[in-house]
Amino acid sequence: MATTNDIEKAAGVLRAGGLVALPTETVYGLGANAEDPAAVSRIFQVKGRPPSHPLIVHLGGAEQLDDWVEEVSTTARLLAERFWPGPLTLVLRRGRRVPLEATGGLETVAVRVPDHPVALALLSAFGGGITAPSANRFGSVSPTTADHVRAELGDAVDFVLDGGSCQVGVESTIVDVTGEIPAILRPGGVTREDLEAAVGYRLTVPSTSTVRVPGQHPSHYAPRARVVLVAPEKVIAEAELAHELGHRVGVLLPPASAGTPVKAHAVVALPASAAAYARGLYGFLRRLDQQGCDLIVASLPAEEGLGLAIANRLRRAAGPRPAV
Ligand code: AMP
Ligand code: MG
Repeated sequence: MATTNDIEKAAGVLRAGGLVALPTETVYGLGANAEDPAAVSRIFQVKGRPPSHPLIVHLGGAEQLDDWVEEVSTTARLLAERFWPGPLTLVLRRGRRVPLEATGGLETVAVRVPDHPVALALLSAFGGGITAPSANRFGSVSPTTADHVRAELGDAVDFVLDGGSCQVGVESTIVDVTGEIPAILRPGGVTREDLEAAVGYRLTVPSTSTVRVPGQHPSHYAPRARVVLVAPEKVIAEAELAHELGHRVGVLLPPASAGTPVKAHAVVALPASAAAYARGLYGFLRRLDQQGCDLIVASLPAEEGLGLAIANRLRRAAGPRPAV
C-alpha cells in the first residue's frame, strides 16, 4: 500500500514531467500533469494510443470544476455534486488551462473526481489536475491491481502507487453535458438508473457514437484470447465443442450454471452480484490469458445496473481484431 512518502514522491514525479500509475475506484490510471503537454504526450507513446483519443482530467474536488472547464450547466453541476467523488466523467467545454494534447484536439474536455483515498491524496499533494487513461496498452484489458500495471507497463512508467484492488473494476460512466440533455457516451461505474433518478428523466445509451470514444470502437478492453459471446444457456455446449476441436478454452460460467462440470481448459465461476462481476471482470480475463487460453466463451449479463457496463466491455472485447 502507498505510504505518505510514496505520495510525496509521486507528486514530485508529476511535477518533473514524469508518469505515475495511480489507483482509482474504477481501474488504475496512467497519470501525468494535465498542464504539461510533453508529459501528456508521453502517455500516448507509452500506451500506443492514437493521439486523437482524448483523456480524462482527474481533479481533487468538485469545487475545482470551474478552474478547468467553461459553461457549467445546472445539470452538469447537479451531476457533479451528486456523484463526485465517484465513477462519473463529465464532458464539458475545455477551459484554457487544458492543453489540446489532453483532449485529442477537441474543444471539450472530460473531467472527474476519483473516489479513492490514494488518488485523492496524490491530487491534494500535487495540487493540479492529473490527466490519466487506463494504465494498459491501447486496446487491451484495463488493470485493476498494481501488479497488473507492473506486468503490462514495467519500466515505461516512472512510479507505481499501490492502492490495492479497484473496488468498482470497470471504467467511469462518461456523460456529455455540453447540450441541453445529458448524453451517455460510455456506460460505466455509475448506472444509467442512478443518473436518471438524479436528472428526473430517461436517458438513452447510443450503441454507436459519433464522438471519438475509443471504448466504442471494435476490439477494446480485449484479452489476448479471442472472446466469443453466446446465449447463457449455450455457454457450456459452445465451450465443450471448441474444447473437442482442440482449442484451449476458458469459460466465464454464468451463475445459473454454477456447479455444472465443464470440459474446458479453465473455468471462472462468475459471481451472482453485478458489482462483484464488474470488480472481477478484468482480473478474470487476465487470468484466462495467463492460463494460456486461446478462446474465451462468455455470455452477456442482463443489461441493467452495472450489467450495462459489463456487457459493453464484453462486446468490445469480442469485437473484430485489427489485422496483424
Ligand atoms: P480510458 O481511460 O482509456 O478509457 O480513456 C478515457 C475515456 O474518456 C475515453 O473513452 C475517451 O474517449 C473519453 N473522453 C475523454 N475526453 C472526451 C471528450 N472530450 N469527449 C468524449 N469522450 C471523451
Ligand atoms: Mg482504457
